[in-house]
Amino acid sequence: MIRVGLRWLARGSCRHPEIMTMAGGSLCAVDFPAMVGIIDHPVRGTLLFDTGYDPAFLAATQPFPERFYRWTTPVQIGAAQSWSTWLADSGIDPDSIAGTILSHFHGDHVAGMVHLADRPIHCARAGLEALRRPGRIRQLRSGHLAALVPKTADAHARFFEDAPAVQLPAAFAPFAEGRDILGDGSLLAVELPGHCAGHWGLALRTQDDRDVLLAADAVWAGKAIDLRRAPPMLTTALLGQTRPYRETLHRLHAARCNNADLVILPSHCAHSAAAFNAD
Ligand SMILES: [Zn+2]
Repeated sequence: MIRVGLRWLARGSCRHPEIMTMAGGSLCAVDFPAMVGIIDHPVRGTLLFDTGYDPAFLAATQPFPERFYRWTTPVQIGAAQSWSTWLADSGIDPDSIAGTILSHFHGDHVAGMVHLADRPIHCARAGLEALRRPGRIRQLRSGHLAALVPKTADAHARFFEDAPAVQLPAAFAPFAEGRDILGDGSLLAVELPGHCAGHWGLALRTQDDRDVLLAADAVWAGKAIDLRRAPPMLTTALLGQTRPYRETLHRLHAARCNNADLVILPSHCAHSAAAFNAD
């Protein structure tokens, strides 16, 4: 695989009881950061894996019924933490961003798309189609805030489903197939079914030779993979499909057992992020 730079940075967080994310978890509310992958490709420039929260999320959840989204998962993203401030603080030149790779279209992953709608967007067709279905209440129940992704962005979508299928390196087994989204073998989208329609992760190798699977919301916490412990059925059935979700969890557990060096980064796991950034 062509190696790429990867930084794994938080952009906002939300709070909800741990037990909603993992059976047997605490009833106490826990902070879940929204992580963004800053991928530096040696030729293509910088690509963002998801965008985290943004003040645009607060605007989109101001009216009813969207306000319920904010009530159920209270968000911490300072209105002062503008997109430009976050980029500057993170050392990212806005003009260097070549596009985004979206794991799925939940509001906590796409809130920054208002700033990136004019650049290529690599995503699942199934996810974008689900986002564009009519009905505010239905969208809200699905975790979607369609206003966060301007419709002008649709013309820039490049779908995972249309990218060439390639074999994943053995380091990612039992995940066997990826979609080569840039056509050079550097960034391989991996379908991780169950969390919601069109939910994908990303396999890559970093410049310091670490094999990384960005696992998005296939689990909320890395320890759920170790314990092979799914969220309550209430959570998985509300957002997606329980059986595929659990099959994906079992495969993640098998991948960790097969290769202790494989780095699996869920999008809301502070512990996994800290461990990755400390190495
Ligand atoms: Zn999600």
